[in-house]
Amino acid sequence: MQHIGKCKRASKSDFTATGNAPRRHKNSTPQENSMTSQQIDYPFATRPEPGQTLEVAPGVHWIRMGLPFALDHINLWLIEDGDGLVIVDTGYGLDATREAWETILARFARPITRILVTHYHPDHLGLAQWLSEKTGAPVWMSNGEFLSGHAVWHGLAGYNVVSMVEQFRHNGLDQTRCAAFETRGNAYAKGVPALPATYRRIYDGERLEIGGRQWQVLIGRGHSPEHAALWCEEAGVLISGDMLLPRISTNVSVFAATPEDDPLGCFLDSISDFKRLPATTLVLPSHGSPFRNIGFRVDQLMEHHAARCAELLDACSEARSAGELLPVLFPRPLDTHQVMFAMGEAIAHLNHLERKREVRRRVDSDGVVRFIKCH
Ligand SMILES: [Zn+2]
Repeated sequence: MQHIGKCKRASKSDFTATGNAPRRHKNSTPQENSMTSQQIDYPFATRPEPGQTLEVAPGVHWIRMGLPFALDHINLWLIEDGDGLVIVDTGYGLDATREAWETILARFARPITRILVTHYHPDHLGLAQWLSEKTGAPVWMSNGEFLSGHAVWHGLAGYNVVSMVEQFRHNGLDQTRCAAFETRGNAYAKGVPALPATYRRIYDGERLEIGGRQWQVLIGRGHSPEHAALWCEEAGVLISGDMLLPRISTNVSVFAATPEDDPLGCFLDSISDFKRLPATTLVLPSHGSPFRNIGFRVDQLMEHHAARCAELLDACSEARSAGELLPVLFPRPLDTHQVMFAMGEAIAHLNHLERKREVRRRVDSDGVVRFIKCH
């Protein structure tokens, strides 16, 4: 069995930047996919309605739930496991999501054997504890995601709103937008009403037997600390979580606890590992539709981030802060939720350029961190 290597660096952070949308080819067949194919294939012309499921591979079912954001949906998955079912990701803490789960679980009428969570973000971990209590199934996740969820939920040092606002102020975000975060409070706990206190830890490279097939855990970094994607070679399926999305670029943010971190470098390392998977692999992303041609999508994302870095580098001919550079990366109005991700993303690209020694940081007399081109 092919084994995917580990990624090299560590870091963390949901939202997405631009939509470098690929062309849509609904009716392509797997035979048309190859490593040289210059398109993304979307084999499903339809998607499941709320409370419905769609079988996308033998024993693998697609669920789509709503989100109260600009990014208005998340994909969740059920994997048949003998007489039971494994849930992969759980949805945001909304009544509509609970009702949809009630409908789906009643229709399948099978025991839930495990609740696998790709990462700690609220749309993924949100209803894990509720589902665990309801079904009796244990939650399986990585250590970094379990701890990060608790750190943010409990507002620990470096992971709370005060720390985030201070980080953003330090990086040049204006007072009006900083104040909007202070009045908003802990948004995470709204999406994650309760967290599990115990869990079954999963590890990079670990093979999980589900329904007689092996699913390998592929830990990725840069979007969150230890994001678990799940690859089944036998089924030809990768549940990519947020690490690989077809139409939007995964958010990569710097957290207040690790202000000089390089999550973009980590993310690019992690997604480059996906290129080792067969091009015929059906990728099941957390947002958007299932797709094929993984290598092409990875290359698109590499180019996307290289272009963003080039734009920022050009703008840093004069010293600029992340806050001052937001219009360069995001030339459109942003709501408070989007500003959070946009600031994280801007700092991430600047830190990445700093690691590459293309910009250097300085702290000006107004206390704001600004970056200036090295050459
Ligand atoms: Zn996420």
